[in-house]
Amino acid sequence: GKINIAIDGPAGAGKSTVARRVAEALSYVYVDTGAMYRAATWYLMKHEVLPEDVQEVLQHVPKMVIELKPDPSGQKVICNGVDVTVEIRSLDVTGNVSRYASIAGLREHLTSGQRRMAECKGVVMDGRDIGTTVLPDAELKVFMTASVKERALRRFKELREVGITLEQLERDIAARDKLDEEREVSPLRRSEDAMMLDTTYMDIDEVVDTIVSYCKT
Ligand code: C5P
Repeated sequence: GKINIAIDGPAGAGKSTVARRVAEALSYVYVDTGAMYRAATWYLMKHEVLPEDVQEVLQHVPKMVIELKPDPSGQKVICNGVDVTVEIRSLDVTGNVSRYASIAGLREHLTSGQRRMAECKGVVMDGRDIGTTVLPDAELKVFMTASVKERALRRFKELREVGITLEQLERDIAARDKLDEEREVSPLRRSEDAMMLDTTYMDIDEVVDTIVSYCKT
């Protein structure tokens, strides 16, 4: 039968590429929870709601409808009917998402949606708190890491924005990790029963094969 797979780890560890490929190999559904936090951030910034203004954030939360739609070019992210697939990857959203993601009421809203998506099994979900909080009963849990240098380098290669240096990216990634690790609600950490995968010296194919082979045993 089908299982659920939780993939967690810090920014730029390659989770989304790997999760998408594993889902493809197994004919499972890929759920990118980071994209949901990014869409929520886009929405709140558009409505000029600051992350410090928790009461106002919570008033907007029930009105947010975030959908992940399969698409030949990957996955489309729709927020209240608007296609935000491209916008949510901007430096602006990336720089602010961890601040909104520390708000408990926002996390509860997104977490319940994520649990519903996994009800029928056959889901590969990536994020920060999937193994610990969203799907603690996932049959397979993976915690993917890589050195900050390597993660910054990977982001650098995939970024389309000009003018950002490798050093700046390294600082941004380290700052986002710190916020994600130190927040009070469901911080980024490895679930005790998660398989640890340091991908610093691994290529994508090796990581995908490793995870898929664990599913077949
Ligand atoms: O995975 P990605 O880098 O796109 O995630 C963007 C941000 O969303 C993370 O830095 C984190 O602050 C937040 N996030 C989270 N919990 C998740 C997924 C993402 O807090 N499950």
